[in-house]
Amino acid sequence: MATTSSGLRPAQRAEKQRIMQQQQGLSHGWNSLTRSLNNGQQSLRSKDTKPVPSSRRSVTPTSRSFYRDFDDDNDSGRVRVAVRLRPRNAEDLLSDADFADCVELQPELKRLKLRKNNWSSESYRFDEVFTETASQKRVYEVVAKPVVESVLNGYNGTVMAYGQTGTGKTFTLGRLGKNDASERGIMVRALEDIMDNISIAFDTVEVSYLQLYMESIQDLLAPKKTNIPINEDPKTGEVSLPGAITVKLRDLHHFLELLQIGEANRHAANTKLNTESSRSHAILVVNIRRSVPGKVEDDISYQDKITKGNFPIVRKSKLLIVDLAGSERLDKSGSEGLLLEEAKFINLSLTSLGKCINALAENCPHIPTRDSKLTRLLRDSFGGSARTSLIITIGPSSRHHAETTSTIMFGQRAMKIVNVVKLKEEFDYESLCRKLEAQVDLLTAEIDRQQKLGQSEKSGLEKQLRECQDCFQETRKTLVTRSEFLEKENTRLELDMEDVLAELNCQKDHNSLMQDKIADLEMRLKQSKQHQLENSTYHKLLADTTEMYEKKIAELIKQLEVERGRSKTAEEQLNSMKKLSGDHQKLTQQHEMENSKHQKALVDTTWIYEKKIMELTKQLEDEHTRFEDIQEQLHLANKRQTDYQNSMQKQEEMSELRSELQEMYQLHESTINELQSLKAEFKDQIEEKESITVKLYAMQEKLSAEEKRRKTIENELEKLKKCAPEGDTDFEDEESYMKEKIRGNSVLGTSASLKKAGPLRVTKSAAQRVIVAKICEEVGIQKIIRLLTSEDLDVQIHAVKVIANLAAEEVNQENIVKEGGLDALLTMLRSSQNATILRVASGAMANLAMNEMNQSLIMSRGGAQLLAKTASKTDDPQTLRMVAGALANLCGNGKTFSRSCRLHFQGI
Ligand code: ADP
Ligand code: MG
Repeated sequence: MATTSSGLRPAQRAEKQRIMQQQQGLSHGWNSLTRSLNNGQQSLRSKDTKPVPSSRRSVTPTSRSFYRDFDDDNDSGRVRVAVRLRPRNAEDLLSDADFADCVELQPELKRLKLRKNNWSSESYRFDEVFTETASQKRVYEVVAKPVVESVLNGYNGTVMAYGQTGTGKTFTLGRLGKNDASERGIMVRALEDIMDNISIAFDTVEVSYLQLYMESIQDLLAPKKTNIPINEDPKTGEVSLPGAITVKLRDLHHFLELLQIGEANRHAANTKLNTESSRSHAILVVNIRRSVPGKVEDDISYQDKITKGNFPIVRKSKLLIVDLAGSERLDKSGSEGLLLEEAKFINLSLTSLGKCINALAENCPHIPTRDSKLTRLLRDSFGGSARTSLIITIGPSSRHHAETTSTIMFGQRAMKIVNVVKLKEEFDYESLCRKLEAQVDLLTAEIDRQQKLGQSEKSGLEKQLRECQDCFQETRKTLVTRSEFLEKENTRLELDMEDVLAELNCQKDHNSLMQDKIADLEMRLKQSKQHQLENSTYHKLLADTTEMYEKKIAELIKQLEVERGRSKTAEEQLNSMKKLSGDHQKLTQQHEMENSKHQKALVDTTWIYEKKIMELTKQLEDEHTRFEDIQEQLHLANKRQTDYQNSMQKQEEMSELRSELQEMYQLHESTINELQSLKAEFKDQIEEKESITVKLYAMQEKLSAEEKRRKTIENELEKLKKCAPEGDTDFEDEESYMKEKIRGNSVLGTSASLKKAGPLRVTKSAAQRVIVAKICEEVGIQKIIRLLTSEDLDVQIHAVKVIANLAAEEVNQENIVKEGGLDALLTMLRSSQNATILRVASGAMANLAMNEMNQSLIMSRGGAQLLAKTASKTDDPQTLRMVAGALANLCGNGKTFSRSCRLHFQGI
């Protein structure tokens, strides 16, 4: 509530311009709203919400012109004021039956004529004029919906109703419309729109419902909580009520329940206090927290986010819906019996609000914001950064002419107030922290998983290896046994072969023997044949001899016959001779003797021949037996020959055995080959095992690297956690450090002692310095220096703090100057009005002046004069200390010592 449209400071103007540009870009402004509403589009709908029937979004031509007029103002931050006339009620009809209304509405001209008397009236222009027939829906769409849209887009917003008791403030704002949805007031419709347009999963909507009575804030959702203190953030100026209950909304039904509870509590509280709701202010606070879609990609890493400056963004906006107490004078509202002090107290907030509105409308330098709790709560709504719509309610009755007039005047004054709307956007450290924690958890789980996987893979591989080794051992064993067996078989076969060969040789010998024998037998056979032949000749000879002897015998028999004939003739002659007997007897005896002799000789010859025949027969028989023997021998020889032939068969067997042996050899060779290939395979497997072991080691190394990375991320996270909420205190630490330094070294000391005044080192941990250094390394000094010229004051402050911190490090001092940091700091000192910037920039200059090379440069660019000017501009002791430190460091340069000191003294 410190400035007005005409009384804006240059910085604020720039800020306003920036916001307007932002609004153009974001199409959040009233212009874009008008356009989207003109097109009958759903400008409220965001990406993640379900579509809403277009009929709900349509607006009447009157509401369109309401926005157009706003555009004509070319000032989207101005407080919009609409007036609503309540229809005549029974009381009005009774008492004012004969009188005309005290106001005349010209909605098409957006004008209201207030009758002064019967002949004169005064006309007032508003942003919108609602007749008594205006529907709740239209009132919402014209007055509140643009504010709700703004709030959804990250701006603070206020909708407030002001007017005499009974003119319809609560009707307009707080009507529940339980039975008839068309009767719903702004609160319900606003929350309906909000719930329709947010994503329950990503965004949060929290409500508090409060009552302000006699400067005490009571929680309507927990009526026991009274006298709730107001908390104001000294840095941001944000007002909050930490003592009040905030309920996170699930859906519209939930809100309706809360509103009902609130209304019931309000009624109960007022009955207990013996007062009326018309004397208390009801305030509905809706806090919306939305993550900005599209700004954060979940998949980019933390490092990337740091490098790209792509932090998650959150928009925290607040909607206030204020149903004010009746604006009538107390005497009129029938407050007899109240002490004057009490009466004053009741209206203190309202009176104070009127004063603030007046002061703002008239561009007064002092706005009495702090006079009451209401004005403190509405600090952002009037003259602040919120988009504000005010609806003033009036009745038609002439009886309340004075109140109606004062209400209209209040509205007219409020119309002059211009707010500088500001996007309530900030880095979402919480979600970043949550995301990083989730990422750490994920990484930890991943590492665990990897480790488990690695271990299971390792054990699997080891098992496989063991199996391979077992298999190999087994194969080797079988091979060894097989080769042993084969060798045995081989030797056995060799022995067999030797045996067979020996047998063969033996057989051969036997054969040759047999052959000799056969030859012998053949010879013998020949001989026996010869003998046979000889025998046959003998036979023939024998037969011939026998024949001859038979012939001789026959001849002898014949001779005998003849002899016998002769004997007979001799006998006859004997007889004849008997006579001659005596003589012839003797002869006969002789002859007989001779005969016996011949007979004897014949018997001998026969015997000899018979003996000879016997001998020959015997010889024949011998020859026969010999022949038989020979035949037998021949038979034997033949048999032997067949045996020999059999032995030939054996030779065939031998050859078979040979071939079998050969096969065995081949088998042996193939087995050896197989053994060789198995050996090669084993070697391969060993090699594979080695490579797997190498991979395993690599994986283990990777795992430990991952572990390290995770730890560094965790550390960084810790640092960030520590760093994030205390971001603004860094330099305060530096200041205390500076204080220490300055205390130890008089500013007016010698050059040498002055030289010791810097650097303005941050009293943070080495790790935090490392973070700053890391950020600097990753983001680059150039980019940070560029941020010094940012249009956003917060960004400038953060950037100058980072530069001051970096300048404390000797390594960065030259670099900062080289990258244009010195010029940027000088420009800041020259043009900035912000006390923090001046203080921190002076500190940064002091740090840069540590470097001798920089000293002359700073001097040549008028740094000393600027510092002196800065000192003269400010009363802030810390800034003065910074300037003193900077000048002291500059005095380190002999050439500029006297001059800078002089400037320094002048400045201080
Ligand atoms: P306030 O809150 O300003 O004291 P209320 O909202 O309680 O006034 O309104 C007083 C009475 O007037 C209520 O009965 C309400 O229903 C009625 N009323 C107010 N405005 C309208 C309107 N625009 N149309 C119909 N009735 C209305
Ligand atoms: Mg009311």
